[in-house]
Amino acid sequence: MTAEREVVDSRWAFLSVGANMGDRLGNCCQGIAALCADGAVQLVARSPFYESAPVDYLDQGWFINAALKIRTILAPSDLLIRLQSVQAAAGRKGGGVRFGPRILDLDIILYEDLVLDSPVLTIPHPRMHKRRFVLQPMCDIDPMVMHPVLGRNVQSLLEQLNGDAQALRPWPCDC
Ligand code: ADP
Ligand code: MG
Repeated sequence: MTAEREVVDSRWAFLSVGANMGDRLGNCCQGIAALCADGAVQLVARSPFYESAPVDYLDQGWFINAALKIRTILAPSDLLIRLQSVQAAAGRKGGGVRFGPRILDLDIILYEDLVLDSPVLTIPHPRMHKRRFVLQPMCDIDPMVMHPVLGRNVQSLLEQLNGDAQALRPWPCDC
């Protein structure tokens, strides 16, 4: 009898992870571990961590950020639900100031070359091309990855931010 090999249709995606409350680095590292705990999400690469100045809502502490490349069998909407449950398990509550302080933030940045705009989920992430704390760590993983709407790679999107005042500095991590 020939053994039948299970074919798992996994997809690649880029995520952003960040925190600016509590043990910021610990929250990020534990969140990544929780995300990848059951095999539905597999970590392909994690960028270095950075400390970044807040954007959009400025009256809050600096963030710790990184980018992740994953493979997943989850559809985009199920991946978002997974990210939200990891955020909730870390102690993040609903409400609060838009773009304000958070224990853990996990966003879908890219999901292959999918373009999606629903009331709960926009892919590519609508602000990815304006944010150094997203683009720099993505470039660390793969500078050639393409934005499917803008038709430019993340290296080129990062270069367009040159002169922009968003501060970013490396943050050591041994997790
Ligand atoms: P942000 O991460 O933009 O600062 P939140 O984490 O508070 O804001 O997310 C607010 C809502 O954004 C979520 O409830 C989710 O439905 C929606 N959302 C839309 N697109 C995305 C995406 N690509 N990744 C994560 N959340 C998204
Ligand atoms: Mg978010």
